[in-house]
Amino acid sequence: MESATLKAGATSETTPELQAMRAYAAELSVLRQISHLLSWDEKTYMPPLGGAGRARQRALIAGIGHERATAPEFNRVIAAVEEQQPDSREARVLRRVYDLSTKLPNDFVREQMEAIGVAGPAWQRAREDDDFSVLAPHLERLVALARRQAEYTGYETEPYDALHDLYEEGMTAAELQPLFEGLRAPTQRLVDMQPEPDTSLLRRPYPVDVQRQFVRQIVASMGYDMRAGRVDPTTHPFCCTPGADDVRLTTRYDERWLPAGLFATIHEAGHGIYEQALFRLQVPAPLAEVPTFGMHESQSRMYENVVGRSLAFWEHHFPQLQQAFPEALVDATVEQFHRAVNVVERSFIRVEADEVTYNMHIALRFEIERALINGELEVRDLPDAWDAGMERWLGIRPTNQTDGCLQDVHWSMGSFGYFPTYTLGNVYAAQFVEAAQRDLGDLDAQLRQGDLTRLVAWFDEHVYRHGRAYTGREFVERITGGPIDVKPLVSYLDGKFGAIAS
Ligand code: ZN
Repeated sequence: MESATLKAGATSETTPELQAMRAYAAELSVLRQISHLLSWDEKTYMPPLGGAGRARQRALIAGIGHERATAPEFNRVIAAVEEQQPDSREARVLRRVYDLSTKLPNDFVREQMEAIGVAGPAWQRAREDDDFSVLAPHLERLVALARRQAEYTGYETEPYDALHDLYEEGMTAAELQPLFEGLRAPTQRLVDMQPEPDTSLLRRPYPVDVQRQFVRQIVASMGYDMRAGRVDPTTHPFCCTPGADDVRLTTRYDERWLPAGLFATIHEAGHGIYEQALFRLQVPAPLAEVPTFGMHESQSRMYENVVGRSLAFWEHHFPQLQQAFPEALVDATVEQFHRAVNVVERSFIRVEADEVTYNMHIALRFEIERALINGELEVRDLPDAWDAGMERWLGIRPTNQTDGCLQDVHWSMGSFGYFPTYTLGNVYAAQFVEAAQRDLGDLDAQLRQGDLTRLVAWFDEHVYRHGRAYTGREFVERITGGPIDVKPLVSYLDGKFGAIAS
């Protein structure tokens, strides 16, 4: 690909100090890759009895990683570059890594790990019994720990910001709130005008071995390089980077529900294309990472939804899909298929939610976790707050807790402040695609040709080659010349789902 010759984000002159800092950062990356390899194997092919030994391996590698990230030597190599090149972006991102790793006392980290360790099984039991009170005492402890963490880390306005900043640097709750408010009315309008859902087409038999072939072909055609990747089955799909030029996708297949495997794989391939680009474009080690979770999600959501659920994309790929599954799709048209994969409806489960209502699920979680961390909501009142919030944002009320406030694993893992990155990903994606279309012309025409090379090259130039030199907000400002804004997302959803409804 032409863009492989682009110069990576760093423009600074190479000095021995910079080389030393890059070498240090490269070793930190290798340690992280090793831990990815261990966890990839654990979630794919490790035999059941391997768990205890694997836990020891992971703990040892994590310990070494933490030691290196908090070592005085790390501080020293960063400081040497800071002194020479005060504006160095490479030094700036590593300074943040060092600061965040050294801010939390060791006994606090241990206590938090231990609390998370026992909360996991309690969450499972609470779900089995459909009983929030099983999880409640664990959640109380995790919320208290998260509040302490916010105090250690520091914030300007509210404790929640300190935690959200770990996932989305520089973003605050006060800025998130109007984004969600801005999405509410347009979402409700679109949901109300959608046709009766009909997904019967997707519930016919789709042999898993054929799906396995087909999704590989699709993601390769989108730009995911199979020579630097793999696709393997797992329970909860994810993407990880166990080595340089080794970025792996995992997925799951359901013979009677085509979207499960198809769109999970395309989603993870979006993450994978981003990660692979960092190696392909030879981004220097300190910057060779995706900057924020919102930025990562902007690519997975873009490939999955904006590209992968578009009519133009399937105008190219539907004949191949029909050929792969002649029995299921013999009498189907591409328009029917496009409608079936874009059904919009109010539902309880976030991970199964469609592109339109998804952000309402996130708004609810944002509101609740913000109130918990800021001390405005007690854990015992969470189930009621959940049901009321569901009613306000989505207009439906859960009938049980398993499909309500117990559905997500995040809080039981001590992750507060993560959820909004999903919606930020959608917002960023729409802003980026709008800008890309100004540069590239008719994106649909390119999708209809099955040609994504110009789109990927545009992201090489504007996003991928910079690695984590900028935050999500900075990328938006550089690319659009304006602030983070929901308008492009709303107009994209209006255009697409307005057409489907008419
Ligand atoms: Zn994702």
